[in-house]
Amino acid sequence: GQADVHAEVVVLGAGPGGYTAAFRAADLAKEVILIERYPALGGVCLNVGCIPSKALLHAAKLLTDADEARQYGIDFGKPKIDLDKLRAWKDSVVGKLTKGLTGLAKQRKVTVMQGAGKFIGPHLIEVATPDGRQTVSFEHCVIAAGSSAARIPGFPDDERIMDSTGALALAEIPKRMLILGGGIIGLEMATVYHALGTQVSVVERAGQLIPGVDADLIKPLFKRLQADYEAIWLNTSASRIEAGKKGLKVFFEGEKAPEPQWYDRVLVAVGRYPNGKLIEAESAGIEVSARGFIPVDAQMRTNVEHIFAIGDIAGEPMLAHKASHEGKIAAEVIAGHKVVFDAQAIPSVAYTDPEIAWMGLTETEAKKQGITYEKAVFPWAASGRAIAMARDEGMTKFLFDKTSRRILGAGMVGSHAGELISEAVLALEMGADMQDIALSIHPHPTLSETLLFAAELAEGTITDLY
Ligand code: FAD
Repeated sequence: GQADVHAEVVVLGAGPGGYTAAFRAADLAKEVILIERYPALGGVCLNVGCIPSKALLHAAKLLTDADEARQYGIDFGKPKIDLDKLRAWKDSVVGKLTKGLTGLAKQRKVTVMQGAGKFIGPHLIEVATPDGRQTVSFEHCVIAAGSSAARIPGFPDDERIMDSTGALALAEIPKRMLILGGGIIGLEMATVYHALGTQVSVVERAGQLIPGVDADLIKPLFKRLQADYEAIWLNTSASRIEAGKKGLKVFFEGEKAPEPQWYDRVLVAVGRYPNGKLIEAESAGIEVSARGFIPVDAQMRTNVEHIFAIGDIAGEPMLAHKASHEGKIAAEVIAGHKVVFDAQAIPSVAYTDPEIAWMGLTETEAKKQGITYEKAVFPWAASGRAIAMARDEGMTKFLFDKTSRRILGAGMVGSHAGELISEAVLALEMGADMQDIALSIHPHPTLSETLLFAAELAEGTITDLY
């Protein structure tokens, strides 16, 4: 029969992928319905991901910077933390942005429909709205249903065992906390809780924090964390947790596994899995991988001609800026534009302290694939600005092609590395070589000069560090 409502384009999920696709499609004169199960738009990123974590990391940075200012003669005393006020501020940051999205949707006449959606046919979605079931038919659909935190089966159901959403809720400042998983999300939350005064330990199954990142980039971060945290156990995993009245007893596995330990809270940050199995994609004939990803081509099209998938659900890397870029492409393809996903690099950033950022080829990847490259490294110990900030542990490196001298990749560790990496992304997209960077005047004294200096070292136009 007839569906309750119809739209030219239906977008399923209102995260950075979904709202970007919906807004772009509306701007291209499409009639759009945006389906979202939660009352607030913005998805994981705005509500329980990128944004609240950065608000708390901002507060954490103030606390650590104030603490370290003692070494150059400034003592603020012991900070007083009003947790309710900090939490309220973090929530207000999120609220401002999600409300903004609601306004942007209205402006464009994008219809927002609240409720969980699932496919019931190749042109039909059923939405469980607060007022009952509604069917929505469409010409094109963009699936942007994102991902969820991975759980560890067998752990007790206890509110002191949290995922990242629980950790961001900031219920209390625990005395002793275990971070299970030394990836980006785990370490960002560790940074927050450590700054607030929690004794933090990290356990990571791999042999390195943030597995996959080049070892030289991890080193300065690792050194600092090792000094600051109670313990960091690599090549180790938590095998069992017993929930008791006075805390959580955690058992460990691995060659150098410690004795069982008691914690007030445990954060499980062991990865995220895509939501591909939660939307009855098979009803529309959409292929879903064993892990729950929806395979797409370079135009973000699934195996079903008129259905697209973007963001976390469409594959790695699970990052907000990848999701929004893909969202634009899907919307433009639907509007008849001849575009494809053709990014030369997707930057990654760990907003730890120091930050780590990388893009394009990594040394780890180059070695694995047998790609030859040359390397230009500039240690921040020779950067006037880094020294003047009392944070000179960083480094900047470029990987470039031996003969063409074109940039293949870049990595940085240090304050504001996440901001600095964009220059390298632009350079790569422009097909820049090391000379292009070396001949671009960078303002002095800045951290951005470390890119210039690395390139000048590669070009031989500076031979020593001044
Ligand atoms: P999501 O943001 O997951 O949005 C999907 C939306 O779909 C959700 O709102 C969900 O409710 C909705 N949905 C799902 N199923 C249905 C359904 N059946 N019906 C209706 N609605 C549905 N990335 C970065 O780039 N930078 C960061 O700093 C960063 N920090 C992060 C910190 C944390 C703690 C976490 C958890 C993640 C972080 N990420 C970060 C990752 C980032 O949040 C994701 O990559 C991004 O949100 C993916 O966007 P998306 O649009 O694909 O999906």
